[in-house]
Amino acid sequence: FSFPYTSTRTVHDRLHGGLLAAGFDQEACHSRYQSAMYRRNPGRRPSEHLVSKLRRHEALQRRCGPGTAAYSSALEQLKSGKNAGASPADPDCRYLVSISYRGLGNRILAAASAFLYALLTDRVLLVDSSNEMGELFCEPFPDTTWLLPWRSFPLWNFSFDTQERYGRMRENGVLRTNDDVGSSSPAEVVPPAFAYIHLDYNHTAYDQLFFCDDDQRLLSSFQWLVMRTDSYIAPGLFLVESFQEELDMLFPEREAVFHHLGRYLFHPTNHVWGLITRYYRANLAWAQRRVGIQVRVFPWEPDSPELLERITKCTQEEGMLPGLVETEEPAAAATTASGAKSNAVLITSLKAWYYEQMKGMYWENATANGEVVVVNQPSHEEYQHYGVKSHEYKAWAEIYLLSLTDMLVTTGKSTFGYVAQGLAGLRPWVLLKQANGTAGHGWCSRDMSLEPCFHIAPSYDCKRRHDSGEIVPHVRHCEDVPTGLKLV
Ligand code: GDP
Repeated sequence: FSFPYTSTRTVHDRLHGGLLAAGFDQEACHSRYQSAMYRRNPGRRPSEHLVSKLRRHEALQRRCGPGTAAYSSALEQLKSGKNAGASPADPDCRYLVSISYRGLGNRILAAASAFLYALLTDRVLLVDSSNEMGELFCEPFPDTTWLLPWRSFPLWNFSFDTQERYGRMRENGVLRTNDDVGSSSPAEVVPPAFAYIHLDYNHTAYDQLFFCDDDQRLLSSFQWLVMRTDSYIAPGLFLVESFQEELDMLFPEREAVFHHLGRYLFHPTNHVWGLITRYYRANLAWAQRRVGIQVRVFPWEPDSPELLERITKCTQEEGMLPGLVETEEPAAAATTASGAKSNAVLITSLKAWYYEQMKGMYWENATANGEVVVVNQPSHEEYQHYGVKSHEYKAWAEIYLLSLTDMLVTTGKSTFGYVAQGLAGLRPWVLLKQANGTAGHGWCSRDMSLEPCFHIAPSYDCKRRHDSGEIVPHVRHCEDVPTGLKLV
């Protein structure tokens, strides 16, 4: 495979510094080993500890995953409804089932966080296959599957009312930590075969005990855990003391956690890779500079000239795109400049209006420095179509295309944008809701890290004495969601 468009860097590190395992079937998933050729920014290097941990984890997934004897016996245990206690048939095979939901960005962040938790607790990760995970992403682990085989799985309904919800079992005393000794407990309670970790929008303070050391000890006694969340909970895991040493070794660069996990886990399937590469070659490859602009708008919002102004002011004042000449007759230099820089702008949005305005602006006016600006947008789906495959494919292709640009402008609070910036390894310029003049020039501000924000994060530490954004220096409140937490 030869790729004519990249600059002088001809040797591509297709395994991302050892992050990816060699030896996968290349035909089954073209993107896995080709993606490095499309990235100008090679990204951060993973630590050796992370690389060796991933290889060990792959072996665990193979040994205990669906189709193995260990999996069958663990499933029998789960069906029996009884807790395996201290002696499951195979003590090394313990499981985390991750159920993610909502938009694609949410689902990607939730699955990445579940994987981090699985790595930290040596559990096999199985993901819900009912929301297109298998159609959008290649298998991340060699010679096994991460898709939960629902048909043979005995449980299906997980909600606030589930008896085995962890927060509920803590609240009603079915599960107790050492600190609880002395409080009255129901007579002879036997823990169930699994615990359900509910980190949905309606979780309680008891559910959030998940982020506490003593509770992690309790959870380690379950062979099966099921987790349902739409959030990037990784910053919360950095607050659990017993995980901190391992996390330091895995991720010496705290702001690159999702960057590594995302590049490791999420490889577009061949169909989506076709959407990405065809678009890239036609619209982005030739440009000397590629600027990605994510305009997250909702169907009920009117087109906003104010937001358009913010986008153009941000891109021009921060030096991403050239300014325009106001007069109708541009200087000769602007029309004849040969060798002037070429800029390709990739806009992603549910609506076409912002793209049409920007495209018109750079056609009807000359740029002040003679640079060429071409503006494109792959689709405008108008609204979010739940469960429609072609819509999901486009969303994933567009997130990925954004991640192939050289500079990124994003809409705050959007998980769609978070995934793009993390995969890219870029700190984006975030469009501010109000031009309040406090941050930067007021139109947008540079994000403090590559990391996504954990939106519905715990507010305090486990003893409820400290603000969660002030416990460790690398977990802070987010700029776009002040109650959220992010790694910096
Ligand atoms: P968030 O809601 O911004 O946090 O992002 P999500 O990805 O979780 O959910 C938004 C969903 O709306 C996406 O997954 C897409 O289905 C759709 N969507 C939003 N913006 C775009 C866009 O720019 N392009 C496409 N193709 N779909 C989008």
